[in-house]
Amino acid sequence: MIESTPRLSSTQEVVKELNRRSSFVMVSHVKPDGDTLGAGLALGLALKRLGKRVAYFQQDCVPRNLRFLPEAELVGRDLPPDLPDDTLYVFCDMSDWRRAGEYLPPVERENILDIDHHLGNSLFGKLNYVLEKECSTGSVVMHLLRGLGVPLDSRVATCILATIMTDTGGFMHSNTTPEALELSAELMRLGADKEQITEEIFLRKRVAATKLLGRIIEEMRFEHDARYCYSFVDDAMLAQTGADGEDTEDTVNTLLGQDGVDVAALFKAIEGEIRVSLRSSGRVNVQAAALRLGGGGHFRASGLTYPGPLQQAFAAVEAALVAEGL
Ligand code: 5GP
Ligand code: MN
Repeated sequence: MIESTPRLSSTQEVVKELNRRSSFVMVSHVKPDGDTLGAGLALGLALKRLGKRVAYFQQDCVPRNLRFLPEAELVGRDLPPDLPDDTLYVFCDMSDWRRAGEYLPPVERENILDIDHHLGNSLFGKLNYVLEKECSTGSVVMHLLRGLGVPLDSRVATCILATIMTDTGGFMHSNTTPEALELSAELMRLGADKEQITEEIFLRKRVAATKLLGRIIEEMRFEHDARYCYSFVDDAMLAQTGADGEDTEDTVNTLLGQDGVDVAALFKAIEGEIRVSLRSSGRVNVQAAALRLGGGGHFRASGLTYPGPLQQAFAAVEAALVAEGL
């Protein structure tokens, strides 16, 4: 069989496919955030309004701060046993299908729709709807909702606004474009609950999470004339503070926020795995640095898994950052 070269799909092509199929599985990535989950829920809710059958696959549990999202209680690892053969699997917010995790049963390319906004998406679907200029995968989904002509209710609007607020860091990151703000205003008029999103995703913290942040700050190290700041979390620190892996979300931004810091890294040595979160003020491309070590993401926010001990991970990440101009 000759495999055709993967390419980007038009809105029209994707809308046609969504109309043609009757059963869908929305797939979000491991270590889910508000974008991968919110984008899948928004499209799932809209497809249900069109009378379609929708299931949600996500390997990891829904994080505590995202459980308020409509239908989040339907998201999990177990898929219904009787899914039709022509079910379309919609991968949201991942540059490669492997980010869905190893629990997802094998899916043929023919049945994959890839919806994303990352740089360097591997175009792994039959249809690949990747808009790199969009601030979130949810705002990519918005183009499809308009194309489908489905009525937008407050639940869909809340899911999409959650994707935008997640990926813009509450309208603070550089991807907070006029278009992102205009879309957010429209979503608020449709009834999106911005107060709730702000409270759940950004303001409310567990005491254990704040104690863990304290430990991460104590362990901060500065290199390269203090333009590079990094720290780590390990199982012992989690045990000391009563925190868990979820409580590490976002702490890397505190490192990036230190005066003079251009690049920040947080190393999470948890349960035998080392996950690294990288953030940049805009001078160094951390997506390119992560790619050197098998990861990916965006220019200013990326991540990777390092297959070795922590000290080696420190050295390897620093070398990759230096190669990208740190
Ligand atoms: P975080 O540091 O919040 O885990 O991830 C930051 C960004 O990098 C997100 O956009 C995320 O999708 C991407 N990212 C994180 N880890 C990986 C990874 O292992 N592989 C790829 N391709 N992207 C990643
Ligand atoms: Mn995203």
